[in-house]
Amino acid sequence: MTVVELDDVARVDAEVATEYCDVLVIGGGPGGAAVTALLAEAGLACVLVEREKHPRFHIGESLLPHSLPLLDRLGVLERVAAIGVRKPGAEFVSADGEKTAGFAFARSLTPGPDHAFQVRRDQFDALLFERARELGAVCLEETEADLISVGEAGAVAMLKQAGRAPRPLRAELLIDASGRSALMAKTRRERKPDPNNRSAAIFGHFHGVPRAEGSLAGAIRIHLTDPGWMWQIPLPDGLTSIGLVAEPSYLSQRDCGIDAFFDRHCDRHPALRQLLVGATRAGRMQATGNFSYRAETASGPGHLKVGDAYGFIDPMFSTGVHLALSSAAEAADAVLTARSSDAKRATIFAAYNQKVRERIHFVSWFIYRIHNPAFREMLLNPKDVFGIERAVISLLAGDFERRPAVDVRLWLFKAIWRMLDYRNARKAMSHG
Ligand SMILES: Cc1cc2nc3c(=O)[nH]c(=O)nc-3n(C[C@H](O)[C@H](O)[C@H](O)COP(=O)(O)OP(=O)(O)OC[C@H]3O[C@@H](n4cnc5c(N)ncnc54)[C@H](O)[C@@H]3O)c2cc1C
Repeated sequence: MTVVELDDVARVDAEVATEYCDVLVIGGGPGGAAVTALLAEAGLACVLVEREKHPRFHIGESLLPHSLPLLDRLGVLERVAAIGVRKPGAEFVSADGEKTAGFAFARSLTPGPDHAFQVRRDQFDALLFERARELGAVCLEETEADLISVGEAGAVAMLKQAGRAPRPLRAELLIDASGRSALMAKTRRERKPDPNNRSAAIFGHFHGVPRAEGSLAGAIRIHLTDPGWMWQIPLPDGLTSIGLVAEPSYLSQRDCGIDAFFDRHCDRHPALRQLLVGATRAGRMQATGNFSYRAETASGPGHLKVGDAYGFIDPMFSTGVHLALSSAAEAADAVLTARSSDAKRATIFAAYNQKVRERIHFVSWFIYRIHNPAFREMLLNPKDVFGIERAVISLLAGDFERRPAVDVRLWLFKAIWRMLDYRNARKAMSHG
């Protein structure tokens, strides 16, 4: 196929935007839909392509409070509230079920909403996708994009729809929001597994799981099992999402079906077995392989990466959708600034890259220690000395802005962790 130079291409109006557009966004998950909605609202001719048809199942159902202002900016906060279960915080439960530590978002050190929502992703993602359409974007479902070329002059992708001949689409700019497919990073062989965080998961929906009551009703529960950890997320319609996250080496020991392996894991943890006593599965359980990785950059000539298309870390702190929505908002701002200011696009895109990378780096310190006994001990025994616990709650709420008041307390948290970890290592040596 001949790739037409962008400069030779006449601009055409939105009616035929499927031939030429300002921005092509690949991937209609939260990241892709959000960036498309914001750019379409600003008047850009946007095409959003999604290979599946909404509503479709997706994992990642627990949102964070600091996503709420972003949902408000997108004009969908009320609609999300209508389909969500109010999430006032997070609870960590010890492996034997004896100890529970609750973190209410209302106690955050920094200002922000005191709750988030737990959502069914089929509903949430469909709602955001529809919003992008409402704001004027051309939103194509059951359309898969293949990249042909991306560079300073723009991007060309081939759009494939069942029963139709593939057709090329030219865009001034490409936004890769293709999630774990990480289209650009894979094409350029720059998608690298994260050596410090190897995770795989088994998950499914259940009916009949008892709901917690009290001030933390609706909270996500994180069971610190051995090995791995498990989430328990109350969803609308009486559903509960439950999943196990562990090193791929543990899940690869599986010598039976996914459901049976999951049951066996729960049987080893009486509190979980008890929880699932009258529960029934709503459909088959699913598994996903080693999913932590990062691309080399979140931006480059003619493109930006948003959400999981750049990188992904273990979901223990429910960060995925928040990282996708915040990078989407920042990507939209970067594109609009680059179009309206004299600053060089490359400089603006480099600043975007820096921000996205730093944020994931900041959260990673905590993620890398989720299996560490001293870290788990601290989560299960929170102490608000000098406001350290409230700084941790700010982090759990998704406040990833670097603020001295939080940073200094998280520095103390890390220092205490180092001491406890050292103490544990000494104990182990003296017993070994
Ligand atoms: C086990 C597990 C549990 C998780 N739990 C949570 C949680 O509780 N809370 C949370 O916030 N996050 C969680 N996450 C993370 C969350 O799922 C993701 O971070 C989030 O969905 C990222 O959004 P996104 O828009 O970047 O990508 P996605 O939501 O994955 O969307 C990408 C879209 O791109 C489409 N696509 C891909 N390739 C193409 C192509 N070539 N052409 C057209 N379309 C394409 C896909 O069909 C998909 O719809 C979890 C993840 C896992 C694996």
